[in-house]
Amino acid sequence: MSQDWTRATAYDIREAVKSGAVRAETVTQAYLDRIAAVENQVLAYNEVWNDHALAMARAVDAKIAQGEDVGPLAGVPIGLKDLICTTEGRTTCSSKILANYQSPFDATCVERLRAQGAVFLGKLNMDEFAMGSSTENSATHQTRNPFNLECVPGGSSGGSAASVSANECAFSLGSDTGGSIRQPAALSGCVGLKPTYGRVSRWGLVAFASSLDQIGPLTKDVRDQALALNAICGHDPRDSTSAPLEVPDFTACLEGGVEGLTIGVPKEYFTEGLGDEVRGKVEAALNVLRDSGAKTVEVSLPHTSYAVAVYYIICTAEASANLARFDGVRYGYRHPEAKDMREMYVLSKSEGFGPEVQRRIMLGTYALSSGYYDAYYLKAQKVRALIKRDFDRAYEQCDVIATPTTPTPAFKFGAKTDNPLEMYLNDIYTISLNLYGGPGISVPCGQSADGLPIGFQIMGKVFDEAAILRTAYTYEQRSGVKLAAPELAAS
Ligand code: GLN
Repeated sequence: MSQDWTRATAYDIREAVKSGAVRAETVTQAYLDRIAAVENQVLAYNEVWNDHALAMARAVDAKIAQGEDVGPLAGVPIGLKDLICTTEGRTTCSSKILANYQSPFDATCVERLRAQGAVFLGKLNMDEFAMGSSTENSATHQTRNPFNLECVPGGSSGGSAASVSANECAFSLGSDTGGSIRQPAALSGCVGLKPTYGRVSRWGLVAFASSLDQIGPLTKDVRDQALALNAICGHDPRDSTSAPLEVPDFTACLEGGVEGLTIGVPKEYFTEGLGDEVRGKVEAALNVLRDSGAKTVEVSLPHTSYAVAVYYIICTAEASANLARFDGVRYGYRHPEAKDMREMYVLSKSEGFGPEVQRRIMLGTYALSSGYYDAYYLKAQKVRALIKRDFDRAYEQCDVIATPTTPTPAFKFGAKTDNPLEMYLNDIYTISLNLYGGPGISVPCGQSADGLPIGFQIMGKVFDEAAILRTAYTYEQRSGVKLAAPELAAS
């Protein structure tokens, strides 16, 4: 029986393509067939680039035939969150305001992936402008959780997570401002990593909250994370916040185990609000690491309870500044019948932006307005400094910090849409890390009684992606946790 390449890891695809065991075109065609078969159930993509993907794959095959170097991602078919600029197709941020936007340039990470031989399958659905935790805020459609089509895939990188779990791409890129890679990875059952702020260039990432945003991969396993990170990390002079640091070869950081590693377990993350099933699986995951030679210590992150409030002041303030550019003049949707400039702004923005984006712009503008700036924005910046200090102090006692990724598994469509605060609280365990700036990974650690995936989060010191990758890899190998693949009958 011939191999089903849509179930293979990026690593295995790369090896097979490079060695000539399979043509890149064959692998890409397998993914396109898979998308054709299951996409009407999962709805992960905003756009699928059939012809273009096949052309990219054939170009890889042609290079191999010529004996040319094809790069470490040769023939690996991937999907990109629809806020990462690509010269192919559109970059819509799942918003009406950018419904027809075609980027004249590639994001830096896209340039790099291209140079490494990756094949682009298309653009993935998301919450509009990355604001949300369920992908229900997309202006295009609702992506479904491959493990249960009645549940959300998480968000905002919901399409990125669902496409990986449904085997509709080998890996994807997402972005994480307050949890948007790790939370959907946890809810949809794949591995998601937010790199340290500054590790990956934000050039060509449509900005939501510039002091928090990072691009990162969603993959089928931890080794693929290392492979994908190698491709996208590194200094970029076009992003002044990108760090001028050497990037280690992350694939060489996986082995070595956790003997002698100290894992901090923050007591503030194991309180009320944490579901019993999630707690049980995370405790079992900690036991696997203890059995593998790691030591665990209780640590405290005392300002955790302020994180959600601080985040929603800082991210909305930054968003209100960043989204001002979508004014219907330079680019973006312009209402066709406005009579004067004021009406043009009002009509274009109120039709172009969905309700959650409008809410954030208003909250952020308010937090920055004269008279309220000190009480909200400045105060939030001060508390952010305290949250960072919590992490610095905790890391005096430990090498990595382990927690649940989310309080509960995936929820049903509509369950939290009437109450924004309840939706915001789904990110309670992921947000602090963005305020601190360090890296974090979510790996699957089991399934609920209903079969929904549960995520285990490992956070690290700034620029120590190597430690979280090694811990996650050890966990994955030792635990043997393999989620039962979602049954998606081809239709
Ligand atoms: N869910 C959070 C929010 O709505 C985080 C989003 C993100 O990380 N992009 O802002």
